Amino acid sequence: NETNFGAYEDIPVQASGENIPPPVQTFAEIDLGHVLKQNIKRCKFLKPTPIQRHAIPIVIAGRDLMACAQTGSGKTAAFCFPIICGVLKDRLLLSIPGGSQVACPLALILAPTRELSCQIHEEAKKFAYRTGVKIVVAYGGTPISQQFRNIEKGVDILVATPGRLVDMIERARVSLRMIKYLALDEADRMLDMGFEPQIRKIVEKMDMPPPGTRQTMLFSATFPDEIQKLASDFLSDYVFLAVGRVGS
Ligand code: ADP
Ligand code: MG
Repeated sequence: NETNFGAYEDIPVQASGENIPPPVQTFAEIDLGHVLKQNIKRCKFLKPTPIQRHAIPIVIAGRDLMACAQTGSGKTAAFCFPIICGVLKDRLLLSIPGGSQVACPLALILAPTRELSCQIHEEAKKFAYRTGVKIVVAYGGTPISQQFRNIEKGVDILVATPGRLVDMIERARVSLRMIKYLALDEADRMLDMGFEPQIRKIVEKMDMPPPGTRQTMLFSATFPDEIQKLASDFLSDYVFLAVGRVGS
């Protein structure tokens, strides 16, 4: 994909909000840590895409994010890099009770389909190589038992489709009380597929005190009323990024 990547170089990005952390030009400018930087090199990501240039510093600075961007703009790394980075730091601060039956991930990435959640999982594993950060995927349409076995081995970042995650929560095998980072990928597609009730149920489960300690990132190709409503319900003091031409 390096060959046709140049097409994205010049995509304009519009940022709006208060005190917006400035964009970077290179990965070297961002405090991602040594291992993550090695992995970026290994992935042959030479420089950040426009959305990555803007989004990564915003999330690293602790802000919520609403980003409208088309497919192929590099959203996965835009949310995975700061999440992996944050999880690495938080794991040192939080002592998570071991041996529990209930998995308590620190980060949750929601995606509409099995294919998309698997893609995110594969890519995130490359980014987190040798960091020790455990990433697990859970989606519907396959036996839940194998996925329970996967999360039992420990999970820092859970990538899931909304339906399967609700199922796991209801069976008390996953708890969202420790979630510090939430990313909703392709939110417009999730709503088109009728996942809004599940998404709302999931977000209700994760408000750990004190309020405002969770960081939320919402990604969508389009920005219709329903997505604007989600943004105002789930995000606080957020930066809005419009990458390229945004449809509604
Ligand atoms: P989106 O989720 O916005 O559709 P992806 O995150 O899947 O886009 O990225 C599209 C493709 O571009 C993927 O193959 C990904 O590995 C690649 N890619 C992402 N960021 C970079 C980068 N900074 N440099 C080179 N390739 C990249
Ligand atoms: Mg994507």
